[in-house]
Amino acid sequence: MSGWIEVIAGSMYSGKTEELIRRIRRAQYAKLNVQVFKPMIDQRYHQTNVTSHNQTQVEATPLENISDIWNHLKNSTQVVGFDEGQFFTMDLVQVCRDLSSRGIRVIVAGLDMDWKGQPFEPIPTLMAIAEEVTKNRAVCMVCGELATYSQKISGSSQTQIEVGAEDFYEARCRLHFAPIVEQKPSRKFDNLNQSPT
Ligand code: ADP
Ligand code: MG
Repeated sequence: MSGWIEVIAGSMYSGKTEELIRRIRRAQYAKLNVQVFKPMIDQRYHQTNVTSHNQTQVEATPLENISDIWNHLKNSTQVVGFDEGQFFTMDLVQVCRDLSSRGIRVIVAGLDMDWKGQPFEPIPTLMAIAEEVTKNRAVCMVCGELATYSQKISGSSQTQIEVGAEDFYEARCRLHFAPIVEQKPSRKFDNLNQSPT
C-alpha cells in the first residue's frame, strides 16, 4: 500500500501543532507505529516533545538536519509527523516523497507564510504535492475575525526565522496585518483557550 502526505498549514496560533498532536494520538489509538520529528531550532517548550501553545504534547525527536531522519527512522514506523516544517530546508520535500513511497503516512505541520506575509518554504511546495491540505486560521488579536497572518510585534526585522511565541508574534487578519515589525502588541489576551473554527 502506498503512503501519502498531509499538510497542516496556517499562521501562528492557528492550532497546527494541536491538530498534529490530535492526528498522532488517533494513530496511536489505532496501534500504528508513530514517530514525530521537529527541527532542533525549536526549543521553545521541551526538547524531546512537540508542545502546542495550549501545552498539549507528544514525544518528538529533534533533528539538526532533515537528512538525520534516516539515522532515527525505525523499520516498523507507519506514521511520521513533522512539526515546525518551515524550519527544515527544502530537502524536507524529497524526504516526505521518499517516506510516502515507502508506504508511510506523513503529516507535516508548519507556517505557510513568514512574518512578511511571503510563502515560507518548504510548506507551500509541500502543500502542492500533498494528498491532503488543511489550512487552519487563528483569531485576529485586533478585531477577532479569522486570522491568516503572523504579525511580528517585536524583535529583529532582519531575519525570516526568529523562534518565539507571545513575545514576538500575534495572529492578525488581512486587514490588520502589516509586513513590518510593529514593536508593540495590540492587546494581551487572557484565557483564550479555543481553537478557531
Ligand atoms: P500553532 O502550532 O498553529 O502555532 P498551537 O496548536 O500551538 O498553534 O496553539 C493553538 C492554541 O493557541 C489555541 O488552541 C489557543 O489556545 C491558543 N491561542 C493563542 N492565541 C490565539 C489566537 N490569536 N487565535 C487562536 N488561538 C490562539
Ligand atoms: Mg506549532
